Amino acid sequence: MNGSGRWHADQAWVGHRAENVLIEVEGGRIARITEKAPAPHDAIGLKGWTIPGLANVHSHAFLTDWEPADYFNHGRLVFREMLEAGITAVGEFHYLHGRGNELGLALIDAAREEGIRITLIDACYLRGGLDGRPLEPDQLSFSDGDADRWARRVDELTEADGVRIAAAVHSVRAVDPESMRIVATWAREHKAPLHIHLAEQPAEVEECLQVEGCTPTELLDREGILGPDLTAVHAIHLNQRDIAVLGDRQVSICACPTTERDLGDRVAPLTALADAGCALTVGSDSNAVIDILEEARGLELDQRRATGRRVLHEPEELLTAATVNGMRALGWDAGELRPGMLADFVTLEQPQTQWRELSPAYVIYGFSGRDVTNVVVGGETVVTR
Ligand SMILES: [Zn+2]
Repeated sequence: MNGSGRWHADQAWVGHRAENVLIEVEGGRIARITEKAPAPHDAIGLKGWTIPGLANVHSHAFLTDWEPADYFNHGRLVFREMLEAGITAVGEFHYLHGRGNELGLALIDAAREEGIRITLIDACYLRGGLDGRPLEPDQLSFSDGDADRWARRVDELTEADGVRIAAAVHSVRAVDPESMRIVATWAREHKAPLHIHLAEQPAEVEECLQVEGCTPTELLDREGILGPDLTAVHAIHLNQRDIAVLGDRQVSICACPTTERDLGDRVAPLTALADAGCALTVGSDSNAVIDILEEARGLELDQRRATGRRVLHEPEELLTAATVNGMRALGWDAGELRPGMLADFVTLEQPQTQWRELSPAYVIYGFSGRDVTNVVVGGETVVTR
């Protein structure tokens, strides 16, 4: 992902709409952006609309223990589908540790083979519930035994071009407070992103109130886990105090609307969280649907049906959730077309791109991952149609 070259886009989103945009890339990063530039003979032409690369903050490529070779082969298919939908970075929330790092490494190899950035979010998962009950037999491969052993195993994973290692506390159910602190300390010492599944189901909140005498958010606050490096996934069953605390601590929130709908999950208070100070991001989670634009519009449309109100999040805010906010949650300086950022960009084409002016509203409400015609990751073309 250290490509160099020049691209010339008919229209591009550079924080505002721009025409005839020359994007010059050196060593995988954007060196210069020039608007209203004539197309140089050596530049690759991008018809249609060019936007920053999309970030898929929460993915479970698989939830079953396959052989590493199957993991690699199937991983390639999933990551290829993501690239073709304009996703240039994926956060793979991984907790199948029965074979140590073998399956995690197979995912990393699959991502590198296809050319997508991967943040392997290695999750600590130790117990069956807040009362300390053990894992069920079919969950045993999730566990390293204890958090120190989790940290020692994760220490053996190495970052590389296009590969970041991040940490996760699976949930307040699956990790006791002392172990949570060990995981968070590991993440902070390594300047790695930290993720957690938070309050997806009411049962987690009820059990937490019973055992810990506080909500899951309050428990995380009490243990010093909340901070701008933390991404809370789902964050659905929250009270007003939880929302204020998450905002004060500048926690990022990852909504996974297509998966949450499928599971019959309630709608997270995303507007209140954003108003409180949280950055919103999105993820494809179960990967039944791989389309970050659908997740971004779902973020808004689900709020509309939950509240009976319209336009709670402006289209530009949704595009920010799908790009730069998500990239930050995964530990990448990408998701914006400006000098210094990683050179990830995606071109969309439809009949309307020839006569309409690019706007975030059309991108979010009128396009899908299937309209992607060209994808560049780190200055290298990985999809072209
Ligand atoms: Zn998940």
